[in-house]
Amino acid sequence: MKSGRNALGGEMTEEPVVSGSFQELALKRTAPEIDDLAADHVNVPKAASVIAHKLRAQIIRGELGEEDTLPSEAVLVDRFNVSRQTLREAFRVLESENLIAIRRGSRGGAKVLVPDGEMAALHVGFLLEFRGATLLDVYNTREMVEAGAVRMVVENRDRADIAALRQRQSELEDLSLPEPMRFAHNSLTFHQLIVELTRSHTLAVFDGVINRIIMHAYESVTRELIQKGTIPSRNAASHHDHGELIQLIEEGDAEAAERHWREHCRASADASLSEDARTSVLELLGD
Ligand SMILES: [Zn+2]
Repeated sequence: MKSGRNALGGEMTEEPVVSGSFQELALKRTAPEIDDLAADHVNVPKAASVIAHKLRAQIIRGELGEEDTLPSEAVLVDRFNVSRQTLREAFRVLESENLIAIRRGSRGGAKVLVPDGEMAALHVGFLLEFRGATLLDVYNTREMVEAGAVRMVVENRDRADIAALRQRQSELEDLSLPEPMRFAHNSLTFHQLIVELTRSHTLAVFDGVINRIIMHAYESVTRELIQKGTIPSRNAASHHDHGELIQLIEEGDAEAAERHWREHCRASADASLSEDARTSVLELLGD
C-alpha cells in the first residue's frame, strides 16, 4: 500500500500482522510447503474445474436462469470436447455448490438453481461455529444491521415502500399467524423486506445470511419445545410489532422506528433463546 496506511486507516507497521487478517493469511500462503501444494492445484486446472467454472459463470451472469435445463450430457460432452466422466465431475462440483439439481433416470437432466443465500449461510454458519460464536452474538448483529436499515428506510421512504410493507404484513396474517414454525419462516421475510427497501444489495445479502442462520437455530430449538409440549407463541406480539414499525416509518420518525425495531429484535431473541442457547456456541452441524 503506497499511502502507508492500511485498509482500516491505521498506520502501516514493518510487519502488518493482525490476527486472522487477510495479510496474515497472505503471509501464511507464502510458506514453502503451501507453495508446492498451490503449484499442483492452481497451475494445472482440471478440465472438470474449467467446465464447472464456465457453467457457474453463466449462472451468475444470469445467462442461465432458475429452472433452465442444461443441454443433454451428449450435447455438452460434444461441445466441451471432454469425456462423460469429466462432465459428470463438473456437474458434481456445481451440485455441491447448489447451482444445479440433477435428476437421474431416462427423463433426467441438470436444472439450474440460482444462488439464494443458502450456501452462503451454510458457510458463514460453519465459520461462526468454528470461531465459537454464540447465537446471542448472531441475534445482536441482526439487531445492529436491521436497526441501521430501518433508519435508512425512514429517511428514503416513498409510498410504494409503505405499500409493500403493508402487503407483506397482511400476507403474514393470512398465511401463518397460528403456526409457530411457519410464522417464524414468513416473519423473516418481513425482516428481509425492510433491509431490501434500503436498496443496498450488500446489506440485504448479509441480513439474509444472518436470518437464515437464526432460522436454522430457531427450528431446532422450536422442534425440541414442541416435542416437550410447549409451543412458543410470540406470534401475535411479533405481528403487532411489525405493524407498529410500518406506522413509525410512515410517520417518518427515524429515531422512534429504530428504537422500536431494536426492542423488537431483542424481544424476539429473548423469546427464542433459552439461557443455555444464548451463551453456548452456535451448533449448525447437528449430531
Ligand atoms: Zn419480527
